[in-house]
Amino acid sequence: MKDVDLYAQILGITHPWFVADVKLQAGSGRVDIWLDHKSRVSWACPECGCELACRDHSEERTWRHLDTCQFKTFIHARIPRVRCPEHGVRQVDVPWAEPRSRFTLLMERLVIDVLTECATVEGARKLMRLSWDEVYGVMKRAVRRGMARKKQRQIRYLGVDEKAFRKGHSYMTVVCDLIRGSVEFVAEERKTASLEEYFRSLTPEQLETVKAVSMDMWSPYFLATQKWVPDAAGKIVFDRFHVMKHVGEAVDRVRRQEHKGLLAEKDDTLKGTKYFWLYREENVPDKYRARFETLRAANLKTAKAWAMKESLQALWEYLSPGWAKRFLRKWCSWAVRSGLPPMKKVAQTLRSHMDNIVTFCRHRITNGVAEGLNSKIMSIKRRACGYRNRDNFKAAIYFFCGGLDLYPYPR
Ligand SMILES: [Zn+2]
Repeated sequence: MKDVDLYAQILGITHPWFVADVKLQAGSGRVDIWLDHKSRVSWACPECGCELACRDHSEERTWRHLDTCQFKTFIHARIPRVRCPEHGVRQVDVPWAEPRSRFTLLMERLVIDVLTECATVEGARKLMRLSWDEVYGVMKRAVRRGMARKKQRQIRYLGVDEKAFRKGHSYMTVVCDLIRGSVEFVAEERKTASLEEYFRSLTPEQLETVKAVSMDMWSPYFLATQKWVPDAAGKIVFDRFHVMKHVGEAVDRVRRQEHKGLLAEKDDTLKGTKYFWLYREENVPDKYRARFETLRAANLKTAKAWAMKESLQALWEYLSPGWAKRFLRKWCSWAVRSGLPPMKKVAQTLRSHMDNIVTFCRHRITNGVAEGLNSKIMSIKRRACGYRNRDNFKAAIYFFCGGLDLYPYPR
């Protein structure tokens, strides 16, 4: 079998294209393949499919293909152009690559697979013997392709969360599809406008199908949702994990204040107990149980605050918002009268957000999925010191967490 026939088979090249020439440079580990096409064949306009004669050709173009027998493999061809009465002069589609790509479809698919496996551009670049920009280009194109394909799908349960880009300041807003477990949107900052940017990208029909949105008690997100989602009042659910986190932080403030007071009297009862009070009753590890029981019996303010947090857990068992509200109201007045300022403060917060805390009873959604995606995003960021700016980082989030169909398909 001649070289040209062998490569025609390897590449899967079919009529009207054929392999015209093959040059193997063993020294530099590279093989170059030139494709040509039969004359007097018709070509389809890429816009309307109308069959037309070849008008002329583009300059010779080069595509990187999968390595063949360890050799870096390049395909060269001049692409026919047609003049469509309706669409003017157009370059026709070729079966081995997407328009404007410098890779063949198979190569592009492999880069996507390797990138998914390596989870970094740098890792994929080394394995594939490509440049950073080339791999990043594949990633960006894959995301664009995936985004274009997902238009119009229904999103019933959303989770909105903020993400600190740098510690303490500089935030990003991440919107997740809680059912698919995918990142739908990443926006700058954590303002009303950040979330609005997402809602603006949806059609009225899509906004109509949103059943509930889970979020922290953060008024900018609340306001954006209220403005865009029909009947938002009953659909906004303040995430139970965030609610419990706020209460947990109040317990910790009680502990810190009490510990300080006790230390002043040379009493170190609370020393090293910070993490004890994070446990729920049933989760206290056996090795700590005895000490924990002693602490609980010692008439401490911290133990009282912890017991309050424990009893609040019952809230999430209610199925009726009305009953949940009654319970929460009682809990809040207990906390307000507790004489523990941090508990009073958190109770006031819960009281003013009550209506959208109890919506949990109806929708039973949490940001749990979003939190999982958050840690995935953080690990992308950690591994990817190479993302030169936020746009690159965003593309990586969509690539790895967007649940997108990333592959190119032959037309
Ligand atoms: Zn046309």
